[in-house]
Amino acid sequence: MIKKRVISEKLTLIYTACFPYKKQQTSSHKYKVTIGIGGNVGDVLRRFNHLFFKLRDDVRVEVLETSPILKNPPFGYMEQDDFLNSVMVLATSMQPKQFLDYLMRLEKRFSRKRSFSNAPRTLDLDILFFDDRRIDTKSLKVPHPDWMNRESVVIPLSSISR
Ligand code: AMP
Repeated sequence: MIKKRVISEKLTLIYTACFPYKKQQTSSHKYKVTIGIGGNVGDVLRRFNHLFFKLRDDVRVEVLETSPILKNPPFGYMEQDDFLNSVMVLATSMQPKQFLDYLMRLEKRFSRKRSFSNAPRTLDLDILFFDDRRIDTKSLKVPHPDWMNRESVVIPLSSISR
C-alpha cells in the first residue's frame, strides 16, 4: 500500500513497501555506501521497487536502509514531470570505481537514455557517500559535489539513521 504525506505545495513524501526499509543485521561487506536514486519518466515507483529487489538479491551488495520517496519539481530544464527521489544505504566490498561502473550498468539495464543535461530520465543513480572517503577523479567525485544543495537528497537523507 502507498501512503503520501504532503510537506509543502511542491513536495510530497511517498511511503511504499520498500521505501522506507531498514535491515536489522549488520553486513559482512567492507564498505557502507549511500546512493541517491531518481527518475521522472514512466512508472518510477515500480522501477524503484524493481531496483530494490534487484539489489537485495545481488550478493555483491546488501541493502541496509532506504528512505521514503520524495516527489519534487525538476530543476534546470523545467518542461518535464516532477522527479521522484530516494536515498539507499548499501554495503559492498567493491572499490569505488568498480561500484560506480556497477551503478552505470544498472542505469543502462533500466534503459536510461542520455540526451542533455538535466533532461528527463528513467533512472539516475549517484554515489553520495562512500564510507567517509574523499575522491576527486575525472569520473568520480565523492561526496557528491551537489548533495547538500539538493532538496531531493537532503530531505530523504534526513530520515536515514545509519
Ligand atoms: P549524471 O548521470 O548526470 O549523474 O552523471 C553521471 C556521470 O557523472 C558519470 O559518468 C560519472 O563518471 C560522473 N560522476 C562523478 N561523480 C559521481 C558520483 N559521485 N556518482 C555518480 N556519478 C558520478
